[in-house]
Amino acid sequence: MAYAIPLWTPPALPVKASADQFPVRRIFCVGRNYAEHQKEMGGDGREQPFFFLKSEHALIARGGEVHYPAKTANYHYETELVVALGKGGRRIDVRRANDFIFGYAVGLDMTRRDLQQWGKDHGRPWDFGKNFDESAPCSELVPAAKIGHPSRGPIWLNVNGKQRQRADLADMIWSVPEQIAYLSEHYALEPGDLIFTGTPAGVGPVKPGDELHAGIDGVAELRVKIVAPL
Ligand code: MN
Repeated sequence: MAYAIPLWTPPALPVKASADQFPVRRIFCVGRNYAEHQKEMGGDGREQPFFFLKSEHALIARGGEVHYPAKTANYHYETELVVALGKGGRRIDVRRANDFIFGYAVGLDMTRRDLQQWGKDHGRPWDFGKNFDESAPCSELVPAAKIGHPSRGPIWLNVNGKQRQRADLADMIWSVPEQIAYLSEHYALEPGDLIFTGTPAGVGPVKPGDELHAGIDGVAELRVKIVAPL
């Protein structure tokens, strides 16, 4: 088949200890999935988590330099466990959801918080606040076949060597299997889909020159340097 314009390479993540790349299809993200973060964002503790999407082209595989984005004066980090689906399905049973997971990574759900807030205040979509160029730096993937399915353990972020986020994966309001089951009620999930599973408390702004070091013990680490806007 011929294409009218040159075909692009699908965004992909490297797989740890492998020459393989993991092609990324979609990026689902859950909001307010740690109780302390829900509070800092103004939640009342009873709210259900909810989802939004980022384009797979927002990925920055393995981190590195990330440009300060356009049209924001309040650019935030959110450190998250990332789940990569190796199999797809509809109406996935929560008890079998882990069987659909290829592996795990640590990612940053970078956010133009001022544009997200404008959307909230005006009842408009979050896309400009959440889904923009380079807004999803992500580490290499670690196969579940190597590490199992982490449901507890520290998740953390240091900015310029100072700890800004620290929590435990066990503090998630909705577990990873519950997120997969819920999403699969609304979408036919596909191999290559990623889920950013929410951030703990401690979100905050960064500026050019800042160095971010994120990690999930036993899973992966990620380093990002914020550089001048394009
Ligand atoms: Mn997030």
